[in-house]
Amino acid sequence: MSTENNLQSLFDNSIKILTDLIAFKTISGEDNSSLIDYCDNILKPLGAESFRTYDDEKKRVNLFSSFKAKSSNGKKPIILSGHTDVVPVSKGWSADPFVATIKNDKLYGRGSCDMKGFIACVLAYAPILSNSNLDRDIHFSFTFDEETACLGAPILINELKKKGINKGICIIGEPTNMKIIDAHKGCYEYTTYFEGLAGHSSQPHKGVSAVEYAAKYVNKLIELRQKLKDREPKDSIFDPPYSTLQIGGIFGGIAHNVIADKCHINWETRPVVKEDGIFLNSEIDKYANEILLPEMKKIFPNSSINKKIIGEVIGFDREKDSKACEFVSNITGDNSREVVSFGTEAGLFQEIGISTVVCGPGSIQQAHKIDEFIELNEIKKCLKFLEGVKDKSIN
Ligand SMILES: [Zn+2]
Repeated sequence: MSTENNLQSLFDNSIKILTDLIAFKTISGEDNSSLIDYCDNILKPLGAESFRTYDDEKKRVNLFSSFKAKSSNGKKPIILSGHTDVVPVSKGWSADPFVATIKNDKLYGRGSCDMKGFIACVLAYAPILSNSNLDRDIHFSFTFDEETACLGAPILINELKKKGINKGICIIGEPTNMKIIDAHKGCYEYTTYFEGLAGHSSQPHKGVSAVEYAAKYVNKLIELRQKLKDREPKDSIFDPPYSTLQIGGIFGGIAHNVIADKCHINWETRPVVKEDGIFLNSEIDKYANEILLPEMKKIFPNSSINKKIIGEVIGFDREKDSKACEFVSNITGDNSREVVSFGTEAGLFQEIGISTVVCGPGSIQQAHKIDEFIELNEIKKCLKFLEGVKDKSIN
């Protein structure tokens, strides 16, 4: 078969797999096990060894699958990583979001670019990898619930640590138009719950207004926001260059004349360095526990303030002389390095010592949107890239 025919059949197979993947409604938080079975059923017959990790209810699954080196010569392993969940769909799609449709050289469907396109390419390319005389291990990492604060990946990565898979290179195929992304901020989300004592508004001294204490807490957060700005690292590569903080919502109270006994605040911060996250949390916790709570308890001992972590997606730091970026640049010939404003699982792999890069087909412009699509040419670019990965992984 000529190379061109080869590429065409690879491409056709990628589209078939992507169509299948889109049909699995793997919205974050929902059961993704059929999709994982589908991936495993492609990789296992090719000789891959795999293991699964789960959430507490065993409803959602991470798959880690490996082609072992046939002749090892000390080359570090490569991890090809993608999340299997997609964001929910809102009204307004031109067609069924879970049925792939091709129009004008674009493939439409939820998850087409974020990021089942990458997974489809990797699975379509797997038979070639399994037939190659690999001189390093090639791993596939498919996680659940990335879109809801990277809930799946930490469970998988914990297992990788235990198994000693903590070196090498990880390529996260989030949609970047195959450009190299080598850093992003963290994204920490919290909900803080206040419980006080209800009462008649004419006797405010006899109740504990959860809404008023929540307001004080919000004020403190806004004060700390300025402190975060003052802490801006002088060599920051981000825009804005400092850690940000935002209050997303305040919910509490039932009427003008009733002291509110319950209130909660949704807020988030995007730290440029881990230390900012630690600083912010310790300051706000100190304020809540040492100032607000004692005041509340003086009137009503059962008052409470509870900060719930919705998710703490750690930042992805620019590495000096990153092996992962160098590896990708060598294949694509593109030496540019960019940062992005969206979060990924990259920081989690980086944290255990794996050199990591974010690079995948499709554009983030189409992610999470109505009529999400991937340009077919991006699929071709990704397959060509995987060819490069293979070439660098054989004797
Ligand atoms: Zn994504």
